[in-house]
Amino acid sequence: MDAARQDEIHYCAVHPERDTELRCNRCDRYMCVDCARRTSVGYTCRECVRGHENRFYQGTLLDYALVAAVSAVGGGLTVFLTALVGGFLILGFILAPAIGGTAAQVALQLTGRRRGRQSGYVSVGALLIGGLAAGYLLTGGIGLFTLLYLALACSAAFARFKMSI
Ligand SMILES: [Zn+2]
Ligand SMILES: [Zn+2]
Repeated sequence: MDAARQDEIHYCAVHPERDTELRCNRCDRYMCVDCARRTSVGYTCRECVRGHENRFYQGTLLDYALVAAVSAVGGGLTVFLTALVGGFLILGFILAPAIGGTAAQVALQLTGRRRGRQSGYVSVGALLIGGLAAGYLLTGGIGLFTLLYLALACSAAFARFKMSI
């Protein structure tokens, strides 16, 4: 244990005259009791509470890029795997939404669940693009069932994004 560090006196980041041992559970800065806001996961500073509310709906460009990248891969996988199971249509109907939902789940994890309002649409668009690209690369065209599978994957992904709000 670092005894020296424990003995240090810390001051509120907003009120430098107040010493405190409370720390924000998001940004780690010290804060006094006036600055602390109780949340379901502990104490958070005002800035973070406010920032969290904003971020909740905005999502950064990087978040959208991540969502798009993961979804495009998901779309490609959907087409690839459903093509593999070929005639086993039932398997495709199970696989496609599972992949779409998983892609959305992974995207949500990667972006720390900071989805923007558009995340669902970005995901669906990227799923389609990834899926269509994979379809053309693999078979030189898109079959009716491939489209159907992609639609299933899209709706599963979209539902996942909506559910998490
Ligand atoms: Zn904070
Ligand atoms: Zn304070």
